[in-house]
Amino acid sequence: MPLEIVTIPCLADNYAYLLHDAATGATAVVDVPEVGPIVAELKARGWRLSDILITHHHADHIQGVAELVAATGAKVTGAAADAHRLPPLDRAVAEGDQINLGSETGRVLDVPGHTLGHIAYHFPASRAVFTADSLMALGCGRLFEGSPAQMWQSLGKLAALPPETLVCSGHEYTQSNARFALTVDPDNPALISRSERVAAARAEGRPTVPSTLAEELATNPFLRAGAPQIKSALGLSEATDAECFAEIRRRKDRF
Ligand code: ZN
Ligand code: FE
Repeated sequence: MPLEIVTIPCLADNYAYLLHDAATGATAVVDVPEVGPIVAELKARGWRLSDILITHHHADHIQGVAELVAATGAKVTGAAADAHRLPPLDRAVAEGDQINLGSETGRVLDVPGHTLGHIAYHFPASRAVFTADSLMALGCGRLFEGSPAQMWQSLGKLAALPPETLVCSGHEYTQSNARFALTVDPDNPALISRSERVAAARAEGRPTVPSTLAEELATNPFLRAGAPQIKSALGLSEATDAECFAEIRRRKDRF
């Protein structure tokens, strides 16, 4: 049985996710922007939190960890590379490490760029990847610490997962990402129709996440940086894919 995944809106525009293994009752949360909505969701479902999986050190992803540990006794997993700036870890992990959640096994991916220690959690049997501020719906995280080349490589790793994979990202930035995406990929019919779906979802207050990797591959300009129509729209037909990615990221920073 695949993990049950619950999307929890937190703060103004963050998301946490619950992962629940019905067979064993094991339950994890990915990131803790705030405690209230997470505890409320656990209570409503009668689930007991066993694990906290941290993606990166930014406050809007970790500031509730200490309080949630105190409330639940859950064990905390995060990047070994960032252990010095994360809450105390019960388990420090890196690329390739296994995450056991009940009967399901996940795998850690290093996805530096937004921060140097950013990791993602991939659960292949449940076809889901928790990407926070690396790959986002129609976007990618701002490069606070890493280089464009690092983020391009990280996105390539995520893009290589099976296309049906659910991309569970960390923020509700999709509508403004869509507006930007249309400036660099204006003639992409999949992007145009996704933008309309995103606008409709937001008008009704519905989350636009998770998305599927297939959708991102077809519409996310940061994954499509190598596409000939994007390169020519940017006037960069001779550039490498990574150079084109860097230019799209620069433009987004100014958008
Ligand atoms: Zn962040
Ligand atoms: Fe964030």
